[in-house]
Parts: sequence; C-alpha cells; structure tokens
Amino acid sequence: MTEFSHRVEQVSISGIREVFEAAGEDAINLGLGQPDFPTPEHARAGAIEAIESEKTDAYTSNKGTRSLREAISGTYDREYGIDVDPADIIATSGGSEALHLVLEAHVDPGEEVIFPDPGFVSYDALTKIADGTPKPVPLREDLTLDPATVEEAITDDTAAFVVNSPSNPTGAVQSEEDMREFARIADEHDVLCLSDEVYERIVFEGEHRSPLEFAQSDNVVVVSACSKTYSMTGWRLGWVVGSNRRIERMLRVHQYGQACASAPAQYAAEAALTGPQDPVAEMVDAFERRRDLVVDGLEDAGLEVPTPSGAFYVMPKVPDGWCEEVLERDVVVVPGDAFGAHGEGYARLSYATGTEELKEALEVIDAATRAVR
Ligand code: PLP
Repeated sequence: MTEFSHRVEQVSISGIREVFEAAGEDAINLGLGQPDFPTPEHARAGAIEAIESEKTDAYTSNKGTRSLREAISGTYDREYGIDVDPADIIATSGGSEALHLVLEAHVDPGEEVIFPDPGFVSYDALTKIADGTPKPVPLREDLTLDPATVEEAITDDTAAFVVNSPSNPTGAVQSEEDMREFARIADEHDVLCLSDEVYERIVFEGEHRSPLEFAQSDNVVVVSACSKTYSMTGWRLGWVVGSNRRIERMLRVHQYGQACASAPAQYAAEAALTGPQDPVAEMVDAFERRRDLVVDGLEDAGLEVPTPSGAFYVMPKVPDGWCEEVLERDVVVVPGDAFGAHGEGYARLSYATGTEELKEALEVIDAATRAVR
C-alpha cells in the first residue's frame, strides 16, 4: 500500500506560482490570468438580492437552478444560434470543475488525452488525475492548433482531444475552418472533443466559433464560465454543455464531489448572463487597445510575436535567459515551458494590467531584451 494515490503523485503544483513567489513586492505583474475589471454591478446585485430573499440558503438542483441553465442556454442561442437544452447543462464551480467532470467521466486508465502544447496547465494535470495519459501536441507557427496534428495523434487508445480557443497561453483564436475540422475529427474517429471556451467572448478579430455548431454526433462537449467574460474569477461559476447521456455521466461525478455550484454565485451568473452586456464590450475594447500597445512594444524591443486575436495573453519568442532578466528587473512574466515542453523559448505575458503599468513594463522589457542579446 502507498500513502498517496499514484494519480496525485504524478501532479505537481503549477509552475506559475513559483514565478509569483520569486518576484519582489513592487513588481509589475504580467503573470495574472484574470481580468483586472470589477464584476458588473448587475451581477453583484443579482447575488445580493438572492441572499436577502433567502434563495441561497439551500442546495440547488445538482445541475444548478433551472433559471441559470435557461440563462446559459439563452446565451448559446443569442451569441451563436446554437440550441442547447437547459437539461444538457451542469453549472459547476468554475470552468476548472467542468474540465474535471469531462475527463473523469470519459477517460479510463491509460487512455490518451490530446491537448495543445503550450496549453492551459490543467489539461495535463487533470488527465493524470483521471488516470489517463497526457498526449501534448505542438502548435502551428502562428500558435494555433492544427486539426491535422490532432488527427495524426489519434490512436485506438485516444479518449479525447482538447481544443481551447481563444487560447491560454497564446491568445490565438482558431478559424471556423479549423473548428469544422475538429468537429469532423470527433465524428469520424468517434473521439470526444473537449472544447474549452472560457475566453469565448474576448475576441478582437473574427468571431468565436464552436465545434459544437458543426458536429453531427454528440462527440463535442463545451466548457465555459463567467470567470473571464464577466470578470468573475472569484465567484467560481462555470458550466459544461453536452448530450444528455454525457451530462448524466458527468453529473455522477459532480453530485458526489460537489453537490451543486455555490447558490449565490449561480444567482450572480444568471444576472450577468441576462443583464446588460455592455460591461463585456467595454472590457473587450480595453483589452484590444492594450493588446495593440503590448504587441507594438514587444516588436519595438525586437521580439517576434504572433498577434493574438483573443483572450488577454501574448506569447512572444524570447532569447535564452530573457524571462530571468525581466523578472530580475521586477516584471513578472511566465516562462513558456510552464505550459508544456513546446513552450520552451517563449514567454506568456498577460495584459490584464493597467495601461500605465504596461507602458512601464514595456520599457523594462526593452532594456532587458537588449541586455540578453
Ligand atoms: N480554461 C482555461 C483555458 C483557463 O485559462 C482557465 C483559467 O485560467 C480555466 C479553464 C478555468 O477557469 P475558471 O477560473 O472558471 O475555473
């Protein structure tokens, strides 16, 4: 007998934390994965009203309140014209729990999960916790995931592949053509496509499309959340959308592990989704202006950087020793290899930081880049 399960022993605490801890107190933090905007007023009011009228004193349905699931379904209809039955949604504790439910419910020991590298840190860890085998695959030069790379990586042991658009850490947005291909691959290979769409509303060029729109089978499940769209990372409210039989399996994990998402957060989310959407538009405009500032600044410093079309991250190619040099000068960036082996030679910068701080950070970056050249 071993004291701890081999599943948890394979996982370590995210490398991103170590970077924060190494930084000085006055450092400018370009490492953050959360918007620096307040939660919209109407979302907070939704929670307060629910608390004061005692609606939040009891468990909700395991899947979440009917009215929240109707609100989520309403946004799929309004934003993308996708018809989602509220019965085919589970409200979760953030997108993180939703990712966990999908992998727990679909991956058997040793089965492979294909995901982008560099990619969001949870795909590797949650695959291991589900006792699956991580299969990271490299990205195209423009930092998008090539459907052909995914198709080539599929074997008889593949349980799922992950698509994440807009992407953390690259900010890249997959084209409609790619999304159609991912749907085709899920259909033809009878493999699950886990589409992580938590940044779905933060898009500057083109539009967000989901493989869910194009799949002919029920082999696509979508994970999303209020966290990034409504600057609600602390509320912990996300969801998973899938066919009824898949939702029923995921509910078994959710029911015993979580019971239901926090009721106040559910009411805040419902208000966020059904209320005015201008705070989202304002935030996206601000991110776009900052994106331009940061990309120009990095290019002026002589770095090669694919222009991201979404989320609030940028991933330049950086010379050896660059991250250390920048960190030394009190600007926090995350080395690309924190997101997978193919992230080596890159760095992730978040521009969820005020414009003045970004300008200051870009000056530091310019000097640091010259120092390591
Ligand atoms: N998916 C991606 C790509 C993310 O970047 C994050 C958070 O950073 C999540 C999922 C998890 O989001 P949440 O805060 O809703 O759990």
